[in-house]
Amino acid sequence: MKVEVVAVGTELLLGQIVDTNSSWIGEQLALAGLDSHYQTKVGDNPARIREVLLHALGRSDAVICCGGLGPTQDDLTRDVIAEAMGSELVLDEVIADRIREMFRSRGRDMPENNLRQAMVPVGATTIPQQPGTAPGLICPFGPPYEGKVIYAVPGVPYEMQIMVNGTIIPDLVKRSGSSAVIRSRVLRTWGSSESALAEMLADRIVELDETGNPTIAFLASGVEGLKVRVTAKSPSEAEAVAVLDAEEEGLRQILGDLVFGLDDQNMEVVVLDHLRRRGLTLALAEAVTGGYVSARLAATAGADEVYRGSIVAHQAAVAASVLGLGGLGEGDGSGVSEDGALTLARQARSVLGADVGLGVVGAVGQHPGEARPMGTVCLAAVLPVGAGSSEEVSATVRLPGDRERVRQFAAISLLDLLRRTLEAAPS
Ligand code: ATP
Ligand code: MG
Repeated sequence: MKVEVVAVGTELLLGQIVDTNSSWIGEQLALAGLDSHYQTKVGDNPARIREVLLHALGRSDAVICCGGLGPTQDDLTRDVIAEAMGSELVLDEVIADRIREMFRSRGRDMPENNLRQAMVPVGATTIPQQPGTAPGLICPFGPPYEGKVIYAVPGVPYEMQIMVNGTIIPDLVKRSGSSAVIRSRVLRTWGSSESALAEMLADRIVELDETGNPTIAFLASGVEGLKVRVTAKSPSEAEAVAVLDAEEEGLRQILGDLVFGLDDQNMEVVVLDHLRRRGLTLALAEAVTGGYVSARLAATAGADEVYRGSIVAHQAAVAASVLGLGGLGEGDGSGVSEDGALTLARQARSVLGADVGLGVVGAVGQHPGEARPMGTVCLAAVLPVGAGSSEEVSATVRLPGDRERVRQFAAISLLDLLRRTLEAAPS
């Protein structure tokens, strides 16, 4: 089964947007074991879109075409495909109602133009997932392209992705005659660079290249960490899951405590789970992250049980008066130390009445006389151990990037320090 990707949009050619859709689709096709030999970009010009689509249909079994399904005159994909199929466009009443309802539910009038999006070529079917106003289309072709198909999806990445994963990949796998089940699992890591992670996994990757099942891929996800995705292709669901289980175990042995979670589990979900299971509450004091740690925790469903609150100090005078931390921003930067972070963690714990306290201080500006280089962040956690006593841990990290990046990375690094400490402690 050979599948091509065609991305439509003049802005792609002019470099105004980067064609991330094609690379994303390419990855999904590879994961599903579908061959994909060509990706083409074409501007919003009907003759050229037609030429590219027919050329692709000539040499491949299926084409995924993204973009140009919008309501405006320069959205031409639907018209070009209908013409290439030799089909009329007819109004699909179900889709039309759905679009009208989307506008109604947002309290807006629907511009007549939007009904263009409900026009479907005769012989085509619509893709059931429709997160936006544009429906995706499955367009089968007759001679001379008998048995071949064009899938048309919107350019908006989020809409496109839902349709590709929800309908197109399963449909392609079915058409390819393979009854294989494809399942993937993401191991989420924090605390290593992409190259260091690749090095740790290099031998395993070579082994897997030979067997071909499962496959592993890295996804660098910024402040969400590095993701290692394992994909298994097996004759049944149970076998695919068994392959994933075995590989997960092997990878965990190699990666150790770099792995903090699976799939959708982000760092704050994992930390809050650990605390909930141990019946501990959490409070923090932030002197560099401006509330980022708090924002991440507060955004997590069910945080209320565990998370009591944060004291955010910005000016050095506040850190001194509220949190008892001297030396911050006074030129010598002596507050940016693990001792300083511990002071905050202890204060957060006692002022906010929590079992566990976290503190973070850091140097993000270039102040004259700043003792610590830009990007230096000190992290601390204070946890109860047994009756009446506590354990204190602290760490210093040098974070790369600009002020914003340092602050974001400091927030997740602080949560990670607590995560590791909790995991190392007997519960
Ligand atoms: P709409 O209904 O929003 O007009 P559409 O199907 O017409 O959808 P386009 O107008 O081509 O899609 O693209 C909409 C937006 O989606 C673009 O402005 C761009 O931000 C994004 N987009 C389009 N194509 C791509 C692509 N190949 N890669 C990444 N992003 C894209
Ligand atoms: Mg558009």
